[in-house]
Amino acid sequence: MLKYLLIGLLVWLLVIPALKRTFGKHPSPRRSTAEPPAPPTSSGDVQDMVQCAHCGVHLPEAEAHHDRAGRPYCSAEHARGGPRQG
Ligand SMILES: [Zn+2]
Repeated sequence: MLKYLLIGLLVWLLVIPALKRTFGKHPSPRRSTAEPPAPPTSSGDVQDMVQCAHCGVHLPEAEAHHDRAGRPYCSAEHARGGPRQG
């Protein structure tokens, strides 16, 4: 008699998760419906960063001043000053 109770309990334990899976009430760990947040990088937004040859500060390539050798500087002043010595 106890054997049937145990079998019934086992069946119950197997059936409950199966029912939950069938009805899908628990959230799926994959979250396939949720889209990941799109990164704000569209083509053209990404700027190359350059380092001032004089003081070493980083700045966008578009804002950089270049000397005749093509070295980037953070300002015209530093471009005039040239690359840092030593
Ligand atoms: Zn500088």
